[in-house]
Amino acid sequence: MTFENDLKSIIRTIPDYPKPGIMFRDITTLLGDARAFRRAVDELVQPFAGQKIDSVAGMEARGFILGGAVAHQLSAGFIPIRKKGKLPHTTVSVAYSLEYGLDEMEMHQDAVKPGEKVLLIDDLIATGGTATGAVKLLRQMEAVVVAACFVIDLPELGGADKIRALDVPARALVTFE
Ligand code: AMP
Repeated sequence: MTFENDLKSIIRTIPDYPKPGIMFRDITTLLGDARAFRRAVDELVQPFAGQKIDSVAGMEARGFILGGAVAHQLSAGFIPIRKKGKLPHTTVSVAYSLEYGLDEMEMHQDAVKPGEKVLLIDDLIATGGTATGAVKLLRQMEAVVVAACFVIDLPELGGADKIRALDVPARALVTFE
């Protein structure tokens, strides 16, 4: 069995969650399997080993779990990107599109210095609204977004292409149609 099929088979799919018509790709089954979790983190890290990444930015909440592990492996810092109102210090924020309407995400103003190399991590990219917001936020602070990496891509929704259109390489370990 290939690594991709192995990983796909360990990701649990919950139909109609959180609402009818959504196939929710649940990575808790992957996180709970020591070998699969390690392998997924290793695969996310591998292209960037030796690239002197300053920080990994992870999107709330599953991006924290994966991004923290990736940051540790790369000896990089970690930047939490959170929903509005959750971070205690001075923040910068950006509006981003959800399926229905807009929301805001934030990071601490002093989380990154101009020119620092940042790798963006989340569990899944769907429409790309969340990741696009995160790229804009990091660029507001003049960070260099080296790449955006995900465990799962839903290519039919076009999110990864939107990230590439921003001149940020996008990469995922598995795809679900
Ligand atoms: P998007 O902004 O549309 O690219 O959505 C990506 C964000 O929503 C990620 O943080 C995912 O965790 C979550 N998400 C969107 N669709 C799904 C799905 N089908 N299964 C699991 N998580 C999802």
